[in-house]
Amino acid sequence: MKPPRFEYAAPGSVDEAIEILRDAPEESTLLAGGQSLVPLLNMRMAQPRVVIDLNRVSGLDAVERTPDGRIRLGAMVRQRRLETDPVVRDELPLIAEAARHIAHVPIRTRGTVGGSLAHADPAAELPATVAALGGRLLVRGPNGDRAVPATEFFVGALTTAIEPGELLTAIEIEPPREGAGWAFGEVARTHGAFALAGAAAVLQVGDAGQIASARLALLGVGSAPYVPEWLEEMAVGEAPDEPLFRRIGARVVDEIAPLDDIHASADYRRRVAAVLTARALRDAANRSNGRGSG
Ligand SMILES: Cc1cc2nc3c(=O)[nH]c(=O)nc-3n(C[C@H](O)[C@H](O)[C@H](O)COP(=O)(O)OP(=O)(O)OC[C@H]3O[C@@H](n4cnc5c(N)ncnc54)[C@H](O)[C@@H]3O)c2cc1C
Repeated sequence: MKPPRFEYAAPGSVDEAIEILRDAPEESTLLAGGQSLVPLLNMRMAQPRVVIDLNRVSGLDAVERTPDGRIRLGAMVRQRRLETDPVVRDELPLIAEAARHIAHVPIRTRGTVGGSLAHADPAAELPATVAALGGRLLVRGPNGDRAVPATEFFVGALTTAIEPGELLTAIEIEPPREGAGWAFGEVARTHGAFALAGAAAVLQVGDAGQIASARLALLGVGSAPYVPEWLEEMAVGEAPDEPLFRRIGARVVDEIAPLDDIHASADYRRRVAAVLTARALRDAANRSNGRGSG
C-alpha cells in the first residue's frame, strides 16, 4: 500500500520545525523513526497535508546529564541506544531493560524515544517505564517550552498532552536514589510483540529492612499507563514480603480497566497484571541493597 500524497519538510532546527507546524498545526504530522507513522500512512489511517521530518533536526539526539542531576534523553534518541548507552545503563537501568522488550532490533534501531512517547500506544513499554520513574516530558511550541509530568502527559490511547503546533523535544528523569531496586516484566504472545500487560517498578528498602519508597506503573491494562498513587502509603514502612506484594496486586486489579480484544480477554489481563505487579515489586526489592523477600 502507498501513503496518500503529502508535502514533505525537512527542517534543520526545532524552531524551524515549529515555524512549519505553525502554518498548519492540525494538518501536519511529525516523522521520527517512522515505525508507527509509516504503517498508519500506508493504511491511510493518517492523511496529513504536511509531513515534517525530524531526522535532520540538530540537537534532539543527545543523552546528557543536566546540572541538577537528571538524565535528559533527546526525543530523537533511538530506542536501541537505550540498551547500549553507558549513561542510561548506569543511571537508568530500568529504561535499558524495558527497551529490550520493544519490538525487534531493526525496529528499535529506527524507532525513537520521542516517537514512542508521543505515539502513546497503551501497550508500549516506554510510557509506563517513564511514568514509574517519575520522569517529565519537555514540549516546545510557539509559546515556548513547558515540562509535563509523565503522569499527566498520557491522556488516553494514542493521545497525549502535546497540543497542535507543539513537539516533544526531550524527557528528563531523575535517577532513582542510590540503592533503589528496579524491575520490568511483561507478558507478550511472542518475543517482540506488543505486551498483553506489563509492569515497571522502582523500590527502595531502607536500612531497617522496611520499604522506604516505591513506585509502580503498568502498561496494557487501560488506555494509558496506570500508576497507583496510593502505593507509597500502602507500602512505605512495611516489610518487603510476598503477602504485601500480593495485596498490592489485588488492589491494582480492582482499579484497572483492561480491554477485551482479539489478543486477550480483560479478565486474563487482570490476572496477568496481579502477577506482574507482585513480581516486579519483589524483584525490585531483591535488587535494592541486596535485600528483599527472596
Ligand atoms: C512490527 C512492529 C512491532 C512493534 N512493537 C512494539 C512494541 O513491542 N513496543 C513498543 O513500544 N512499540 C512497538 N512498535 C512501535 C515502535 O516502538 C515505534 O518506534 C514507536 O511507536 C514510534 O516511534 P517512531 O520514532 O518510529 O515514531 P514515528 O512512527 O515516526 O511517529 C509516531 C507518532 O509520534 C509522533 N511524533 C514522533 N516524534 C514526535 C515528537 N518529537 N514530538 C511530537 N510528536 C512526535 C508522530 O507524528 C506520529 O504521530 C512496533 C512497531 C512495529 C512496526
